[in-house]
Amino acid sequence: MYNYKMWINGEFVDAESRKTYSVVNPATGEEIAKLPLGDKVDVDKAIASAKKAFPIWSKKSQMERSLVLNKLADIIQDYAEELGMLECLDHGFPIKTAMLMGTVASKMFRDSAEMAKGMMGKLAPKSSSSVIYMQREPIGVCALITPWNGPLIQTASKLSACLATGNTCVLKPASIDSLSTLKLAEALAKVDLPKGTVNIVTGPGGTVGEYLASSPLVGMVGFTGSSETGKRIMEIGSRNVKRMALELGGKNPFIVLEDADLDAALHCAIHSSFYNSGQICASPGRYYLHEKVYDEFVERFTEAAKRLVIGDPLNPKTQIGPVVSREQRDNIEAYIKSGIEDGAKLILGGERPINPPLDKGFYVMPAIFTNVTVDMKIGREEIFGPVACIMDKFSSEEKLLESVNNNNYGLGASVWTRNVAHAMRLASEIQSGAVWINEHMLLAEGMPWGGIKESGLGWENAEIVLNEYTQLKVVYVDLTEMKNRPWNEL
Ligand code: NDP
Repeated sequence: MYNYKMWINGEFVDAESRKTYSVVNPATGEEIAKLPLGDKVDVDKAIASAKKAFPIWSKKSQMERSLVLNKLADIIQDYAEELGMLECLDHGFPIKTAMLMGTVASKMFRDSAEMAKGMMGKLAPKSSSSVIYMQREPIGVCALITPWNGPLIQTASKLSACLATGNTCVLKPASIDSLSTLKLAEALAKVDLPKGTVNIVTGPGGTVGEYLASSPLVGMVGFTGSSETGKRIMEIGSRNVKRMALELGGKNPFIVLEDADLDAALHCAIHSSFYNSGQICASPGRYYLHEKVYDEFVERFTEAAKRLVIGDPLNPKTQIGPVVSREQRDNIEAYIKSGIEDGAKLILGGERPINPPLDKGFYVMPAIFTNVTVDMKIGREEIFGPVACIMDKFSSEEKLLESVNNNNYGLGASVWTRNVAHAMRLASEIQSGAVWINEHMLLAEGMPWGGIKESGLGWENAEIVLNEYTQLKVVYVDLTEMKNRPWNEL
């Protein structure tokens, strides 16, 4: 049984109320931890300590901050195995995947430390009468609110950028799988961060998250989660015109043209649809298959999905674990039911496994629908589970684009073809923050990540993320003598 505490003002603490809540292993349904149930009073303490730490942390030189982040990266790497185990136990990542998370998180801190060292201001063109320069400055106290679908990576991505640029923060992880984030506090305690630079408060989004996002003492909200919550955060954050970086949901098209390399497309389709049980914002939400490849793709995709190994995440052979919670399983099952009712054809899966020990966990067997249309709920909304939706086959590209862009989301899309110039033309027509050509879901080094439309505002990763966590100041230096200044005449 794990018993982590919150991390406020450099100390591990219980909630003021002493109340706790239970964390459950999604593979077994058993309780594995009790965590502090934070409330407004805990948020107030955390914000006050982040505010106090800001002048100290922000005044450190970039070199000093980067040294601290690099040390943190080393410690996170040392903790990788323990962090991986926690990701497996409270989230349900298959152990082989889970064990990579610490290394990825560690690299994020190292990358942010390095990128921030290269962050430069700008100088306006030379003038004999003035020097005008622009510098980027930290914002102050940031609220970092993260989702459950990749807890450690989501935390590391935001926290590393926030700290590297000189901000302090209050971090609120997703309630159902925050163990790895709370373990991270042990690493934070070992490095030379001023007390209160990072504070972690656990508790429900509806109280802790909302109170945090609405606080006038918070200057910026870095949020990843659903579009619905993102809209709510925009609404409450607007009261004091907070800066926002919002990474939200997606219903991402996966488009296979008639000349695609089908082996490659199928391999990637299986991975990107079912990795993390489909609980990835970039996962393909809609398959668009050209009529000439439709039958072969559907047949081979279905056969490959049948071969996936579903099982206990602690077993190294497992490829697909449970979904994160009972509630998420219920949501996914409701989508499957609505797909059937709306007339889509469920050609594979969607059921719960009935044999022990999987019957105790929150599993959904990989599912494939065909005959999905954009007016169906499953054709429009993000399911966030192991359910692939194959739209009606297409032959006209004009109609394809109309359908692809007929959606409120705009996160990621992929085009599969051997004619890259053709794909590039399509890419410029697709309304999406990212378009992959002959890939899907890959976040390559140096690639920023962000959505348009209802998929978000602002960017994560790569150098551009530093802009999200800094504000611009223009400094004007007058070089003329007093007597020559035009306003002297007034
Ligand atoms: P939610 O929006 O439900 O929750 C995200 C975070 O916000 C959690 O910490 C949650 O707390 C908190 N929260 C909930 N309600 C409020 C509120 N009213 N005010 C402030 N905070 C609140 O998202 P999920 O955790 O369900 O994550 C899945 C979603 O995240 C999907 O839509 C997915 O597409 C999106 N996502 C987007 C990514 C991107 O890069 N674009 C990447 C990963 C996920 P609590 O846990 O206590 O409810």
